[in-house]
Amino acid sequence: MPPVTLATMTALPRGAWQDVARATGLLAPGATSTADVAATIFAEMSALAVSTGAVNLGQGFPDVDGPAAVKAAAVRAIEAGANQYPPGPGIPELRAAVAAHQQRHYGLDVDPDTEVLVTTGATEALASAILALAGPGDEVITLEPFYDSYAAVIALAGATHVPVALAPTPGGFRLDVAALRAAASDRTRILLVNSPHNPTGTVLTRDELAAIAQVACERDAVVVTDEVYEHLTFDDAEHVPLATLPGMAERTLTISSSGKSYSLTGWKIGWVHGPAALVTAVRTVKQFLTYVSGAPFQPAIAQALADDDAPRELAASLAHRRDLLCDGLRAAEFDVVVPQGTYFVVADATRIIERFGLADGVELSRRLPELAGVVGVPMAAFCRPGSPTSERLRNALRFTFVKQEATLREAIARLRVLAAQ
Ligand SMILES: *Cc1c(COP(=O)(O)O)cnc(C)c1O
Repeated sequence: MPPVTLATMTALPRGAWQDVARATGLLAPGATSTADVAATIFAEMSALAVSTGAVNLGQGFPDVDGPAAVKAAAVRAIEAGANQYPPGPGIPELRAAVAAHQQRHYGLDVDPDTEVLVTTGATEALASAILALAGPGDEVITLEPFYDSYAAVIALAGATHVPVALAPTPGGFRLDVAALRAAASDRTRILLVNSPHNPTGTVLTRDELAAIAQVACERDAVVVTDEVYEHLTFDDAEHVPLATLPGMAERTLTISSSGKSYSLTGWKIGWVHGPAALVTAVRTVKQFLTYVSGAPFQPAIAQALADDDAPRELAASLAHRRDLLCDGLRAAEFDVVVPQGTYFVVADATRIIERFGLADGVELSRRLPELAGVVGVPMAAFCRPGSPTSERLRNALRFTFVKQEATLREAIARLRVLAAQ
């Protein structure tokens, strides 16, 4: 018998990777081999952008770095010796800066010593919170479409993912409150709420947040909020943290990050705050995922958080770039839902898909580099495969406008070839 090697163990190793791959649509239901794992659509699209020279409006990261003073503070911290493990909950200066930020912007009283935990980006805060609080038999409600890591972590926790639709309306993507009520049950452990919302750009209204709060109280569920775009809102849209609603601070874990607010997505400095007992539960898990991270970045972000100008200027510049891209997409015969926040716009391509005889948004995104020299991500990547929301958004793509104006103008000029002549 030939020796069993890793290369011959095609059906192995078994493990949670299979649950994660299935939950994110990377593995077909019957498949078991690592050879069957598809690349994420983000990796596929970024590779396509590189190989074709297309303008990449797929992945959402800024092409201009954050403030020079913040970068200089990190360099100084390295030179001053901030190069070993920082304290488990995060350095005191950063925890104090997070608490001061929450007080200044939202009037929230947060104890920096017991109610704040610094994490490796919002991603780790989300993963630790879900792993800490939900398990087999528990349900986690999210909005749909959803940020891709949610489905993966809910699967890792062994919990059940219950998505609730955000539906496109003339007033933007709006929460279907009746659907939320119908989705909640006594098994609901966590309501995971993302506002401002990636991928739709929706900023939930006070009424929508109040409906979520009411359901959470009725079902005695914890609310976990992903507020990484808290400062990136446009026009008169106002970001309201769910923890500021009456009675909600005691059952809410508020998560944010410096990546999006300060255009430093590679630094991965995030945080979570909430009642001490919940934060302790999250820390218990977090300390065995990464223990700590980003020693020299923590003091730099503590300094950045005292500066409200940089995020405000970024939001103003993003609002302008949003308008530019929305106009360009309309000229190319996409139908856009104008976003009120974030880095992203959702554009329905039904007219283009019909004209070119394509199947759906997935096929259009694969063909778009060749047709127009631009990359976008199909909305199917943010939906549960086969769900009513994924059907409704089957012809839609997400484009980012967190790119320099010249890059956006180049993409817009290229997209014009899609319009009927
Ligand atoms: C970018 C993003 C994150 C990840 O934030 P990090 O701080 O980079 O981990 C989480 N949630 C949403 C909605 C995002 O868009």
